[in-house]
Amino acid sequence: MGGRTDTDVLVVGAGPVGLAVATRARAAGLDVLVVDRRAGTLDKACGEGLLPGALRSVRELGADPPGHPLTGISYRAPGRNADHRFVAGPGRGVRRTTLHAALRARAAEVGADFVHARVTALRQDAAGVDVELVPRGGAGDGVGDVTDADDRRPGTLRARWVLGCDGLHSTVRRLAGLDVRPGWNGDRPSHRRYGLRRHFLVAPWTDLVEVHWSPHAEAYVTPVAPDVVGVALLAPRAVSAAGFDTLLRTQFPELAARVGAAQAGPLLGAGPLRRRSQRRTAGRVRLVGDASGYVDALTGEGVRVGLAQAAAAVRHLDDPAAYERAWRTATRDYRALTTGLVAWASSPARGAIVPAAVRLPRLYGAVVERLAR
Ligand SMILES: Cc1cc2nc3c(=O)[nH]c(=O)nc-3n(C[C@H](O)[C@H](O)[C@H](O)COP(=O)(O)OP(=O)(O)OC[C@H]3O[C@@H](n4cnc5c(N)ncnc54)[C@H](O)[C@@H]3O)c2cc1C
Repeated sequence: MGGRTDTDVLVVGAGPVGLAVATRARAAGLDVLVVDRRAGTLDKACGEGLLPGALRSVRELGADPPGHPLTGISYRAPGRNADHRFVAGPGRGVRRTTLHAALRARAAEVGADFVHARVTALRQDAAGVDVELVPRGGAGDGVGDVTDADDRRPGTLRARWVLGCDGLHSTVRRLAGLDVRPGWNGDRPSHRRYGLRRHFLVAPWTDLVEVHWSPHAEAYVTPVAPDVVGVALLAPRAVSAAGFDTLLRTQFPELAARVGAAQAGPLLGAGPLRRRSQRRTAGRVRLVGDASGYVDALTGEGVRVGLAQAAAAVRHLDDPAAYERAWRTATRDYRALTTGLVAWASSPARGAIVPAAVRLPRLYGAVVERLAR
């Protein structure tokens, strides 16, 4: 094949990373089509903390979503806590729906087009990629809010490049042959970790992101609005199977009492969290964001790292080896720090994490500053 294409860049996935890719590709003068299997304002299980570096990257894209200021991170266990406040100004707690609306509005403003469909097949040659799209009805896939129906365009589209920004369980990664091994992501089933997230109608009592540590789970508490606090629970499968409410009540009774019973919005889940890819490029296909690999939500860095990848992917569209190098550079610290912390959290020495943060405030502060970059 060859010749005519329908668009320069087909972005699969309208999460924050896909929308960042779309905005940057438009700034580079490229035609952009964004396809997502869900319509409307997209929600996702997320801790919703934009640490200072992530907030900076969002603003660089031309978006400034409202939320609640975040001035630092507090590691907490019963009877003790280690607090560190960001040196270079605050981050922001932002509802995923608010972040999506702001980034999507920005991408549309600079001329990206949107299609509501699911990608089911890819074929590529030297000049482009043919992508099969199955149109979706008005209903979503059950994992997010669906508030309106976008336009639908079925059939096959041809793009010069396809950027797979389709999240943890990336279809593009599988179709491009970039899964590590079909059905396997390098994690033992007993070590697989999951995330669950719920919002509570309660006025924030702090400007810190609180990370509560129990013997078997972590609770991320992020203020996101004057009257809303988000709680994301992270735990291995056997523990998270108890469900959000039981987990919160049994592992974090003080926190459960503090957030109260007034819940807001849907309960969402995600996992298993650890995902890997063989490479980030295959011909004219690139993987970006969670689709390219993910370690864990424990360090709250997904959006920052994903937005850095988005910039690199567009900058190096013509040079897959350069994108691969840039991806490694952009993710190196995240992969090392998060892998190390998850290993510690999964070990018998888990109970030493908060005491160590309390005892070694300079080290704890240095780690938090690293996350805040
Ligand atoms: C519990 C939890 C807490 C977290 N807390 C934080 C935090 O506090 N701060 C932070 O920065 N990060 C956090 N993260 C990580 C962050 O949520 C992700 O890194 C980020 O959402 C990645 O964005 P993305 O655009 O790559 O993927 P996603 O946001 O997952 O978007 C992927 C999109 O692709 C679409 N899609 C999937 N398959 C197809 C298909 N076949 N065809 C068409 N569309 C498709 C989906 O509908 C979706 O909209 C957390 C993650 C979890 C699980």
